[in-house]
Amino acid sequence: MNRRKFIRRSTAAAVTASLYSSRSIAAALQALLQVTSDVDAITGDGANTVLEKAAVQELSDSLRGNLLVTGSDGYDIARRVLNKSIDKYPALIVQPTGVADIQSAVTFARERNLLLAVKCGGHSFSGKSTCDGGMQIDLSSFRNVRVDTGNKTAYVSGGSLLGEIDHECMAHGLVTTAGTVSHTGVGGLTLGGGFGRVARRFGLALDNLTGVDIVTADGRLRHASADENPDLYWGVRGGGGNFGIVTSFEFALHEMQRDVIGGNVIWPLSDARDVLKFYADYCAAATDDLYLDFVLFSPPANAEPVALIHACYCGPASKADTVLAPLNNFGSPLVNQIKTIDYVEMQRSGDDSDPRTGGQYLKSGFTDGISDELVDALAEGFEPHPDRSTISFFQQSGGAIGRVPSDATAFAQRWASHSVFTTVSWEPGVDRDPHVSYVRKYWNEVEPGTRGFYTNEVADESQQTINSNYEGNFKKLLGVKQEYDPGNLFRLNANIRSG
Ligand SMILES: Cc1cc2nc3c(=O)[nH]c(=O)nc-3n(C[C@H](O)[C@H](O)[C@H](O)COP(=O)(O)OP(=O)(O)OC[C@H]3O[C@@H](n4cnc5c(N)ncnc54)[C@H](O)[C@@H]3O)c2cc1C
Repeated sequence: MNRRKFIRRSTAAAVTASLYSSRSIAAALQALLQVTSDVDAITGDGANTVLEKAAVQELSDSLRGNLLVTGSDGYDIARRVLNKSIDKYPALIVQPTGVADIQSAVTFARERNLLLAVKCGGHSFSGKSTCDGGMQIDLSSFRNVRVDTGNKTAYVSGGSLLGEIDHECMAHGLVTTAGTVSHTGVGGLTLGGGFGRVARRFGLALDNLTGVDIVTADGRLRHASADENPDLYWGVRGGGGNFGIVTSFEFALHEMQRDVIGGNVIWPLSDARDVLKFYADYCAAATDDLYLDFVLFSPPANAEPVALIHACYCGPASKADTVLAPLNNFGSPLVNQIKTIDYVEMQRSGDDSDPRTGGQYLKSGFTDGISDELVDALAEGFEPHPDRSTISFFQQSGGAIGRVPSDATAFAQRWASHSVFTTVSWEPGVDRDPHVSYVRKYWNEVEPGTRGFYTNEVADESQQTINSNYEGNFKKLLGVKQEYDPGNLFRLNANIRSG
């Protein structure tokens, strides 16, 4: 045991002996895990293995952060992800507070060929950031954003959430692309893409990534940028978590006014077909500073289902009326909530009302335009149900995203006009099977109008489907994977593998 841990442990013991208790002392004691037995675990290949008590204790003692096992305080929060139907129990959870802890954890996992999950915001729909029997590296204690206003760059720690970037950057009148729900993780969102309200103007989150610090499978900390390890820099911009754990993201920032203009315009579900056709045409004509979502939304408990368009205009205020006139004048909406709003507030506006906090199931794809056949399939098959929330969602792409060549980064789907998905969510205790079956059946009708799927929404696709989804970038990605993670330690993702 090192000196620092010894002092902390002795102090904690003394404090306990004095029967003095407080939350912070409980937390300090928690950090000092006493491993009492060997730990059963699972390897990346699914085999059983046993982690010796002494080795686990040594790992714990080497960390500044926490090592948690079943029964530890905080274990149940850490193992969970946003999708409550994912209920997995890692053998070990490491909560690093810095790069050295991440290096120790990665080395420990690689040496024992452990199944390894990496969690940032925990928003992976299919629960790739937790696992049964392996090690989870939970980055939630590793959050920070530093803004360098001089060179307009944000340095973001690997476990940070999107809202932290928006908050810190906008304080200086600066912005970079982030997704539309502020508690989503920077890690998962950026490495696979990163659509958001300003992406058509400034590119995907990954297009703004000028460099990363990353701990690769060999436990080394590397920098990757256009000048250093350029192959790795290329790969992390679209290859997801396949190559290592990003400890620091460097984002290019852009000047932008705080006030944007936008919000929801909402129609009854019976207008869905007309609204979606209007949406398709309006999107096709949109300038880069206009971003548009389309949503079919049916809340549970027989509440009224609706069709809505969400808009965010981030261009000059003097042009807003003209740009938004087609939307403001279309049809007979139930309500029009378009207004001038602080950008950071808008970025948080979906946080509380996001219904995807129960169990959930999702199918996703990309579209190149929205054909009449796709409109029909989406409108006809959309079925409200009292036991679930049902959403079909178009997120607009194009603009600056589409002007990047498809082989410039590992993200291939530059051709897409939209990312589209259908998801259902249900409260704990509700039988998931009928709702999952519904999405699969509905998606069978919708899928012919789509192509590929968003890497960040990978679920249970076959290896062949995952590989072909990287399109022309797959071969190069396989080479980068073989160089930096030959043993496929980082496999819980849209995994790059021959086969
Ligand atoms: C409510 C909600 C809203 C969303 N909105 C958007 C949106 O507007 N735009 C958009 O593009 N997508 C959006 N998504 C999808 C989102 O991009 C993915 O769910 C993404 O995986 C979330 O990242 P996370 O860090 O929260 O996920 P996690 O579940 O924590 O991680 C997912 C995967 O990312 C990898 N990973 C995470 N952090 C790191 C790291 N530091 N280093 C290496 N690998 C890492 C790991 O492989 C991990 O398995 C949304 C999802 C949800 C649930």
